[in-house]
Amino acid sequence: MKLQIVTLPCLADNYAFLIHHPDTQQTSVVDVPEAAPILAALKDRNWKLDTILLTHHHDDHIAGVDELRTVTNAQVVGSERDKARLPKLDIHVRVGDQIDVCSVTTEVIAADGHTIGHIAYIMPGAAFTGDSLMALGCGKLFEGSADMMWETLERFAGLPDETMIYSGHEYTANNADFALTIEPGNTALQKRYAEIQTARASKTPTVPSELSLERETNPFLRAPLPEVKRAVGMEGESDAAVFAEIRRRKDCF
Ligand code: ZN
Ligand code: FE
Repeated sequence: MKLQIVTLPCLADNYAFLIHHPDTQQTSVVDVPEAAPILAALKDRNWKLDTILLTHHHDDHIAGVDELRTVTNAQVVGSERDKARLPKLDIHVRVGDQIDVCSVTTEVIAADGHTIGHIAYIMPGAAFTGDSLMALGCGKLFEGSADMMWETLERFAGLPDETMIYSGHEYTANNADFALTIEPGNTALQKRYAEIQTARASKTPTVPSELSLERETNPFLRAPLPEVKRAVGMEGESDAAVFAEIRRRKDCF
């Protein structure tokens, strides 16, 4: 994929992502926790923002939309289903839609669980997951059920191994502490844990992460594996039930 994608830290631990096509000069952003870092990043690169893509209605993903729209005149894209809770949308999308983002065909998929109406944007090689699948984790179930989030995670699990997961927060160090309570003997996880410590010591983002690495280390995605079911004392139980138990444990971690 020819696109340039920039991870922009915002607020305390949020991310926005700039997407830029070097030939067409089109530029999009996924989520707007605040406008200032996005405007600064656009100015640094001399990029002109065309499109704002929203994943879900939480304030830490939309708070800067009105300011960013006013300054850049960008078009705001979000879920038709959740329009009552999102800033005013210029383009309403539905699950299953294909939209053009920086000249790349992008699929809108359902990512319910954290909220109902949460969507994700899928490009070849890149998934913008908001607060659904996250680096070594998944979003809290504020509105949806564990079954809904499990369906969402299964959707991401079906993407190609080399897909990069662009998720909305830097929660990875805490997620790694938790993941080790589920699979202390997972050597890929131990290695990733050490890499996360090093990255965070220099404030380097741990997002994006490759789906192949999530498969090897993310306890939520790994709910179907016999060794994970055994680890939580749920051998023979459904994948969704095991996922729900791991999510429950994380909530009180
Ligand atoms: Zn959220
Ligand atoms: Fe969030």
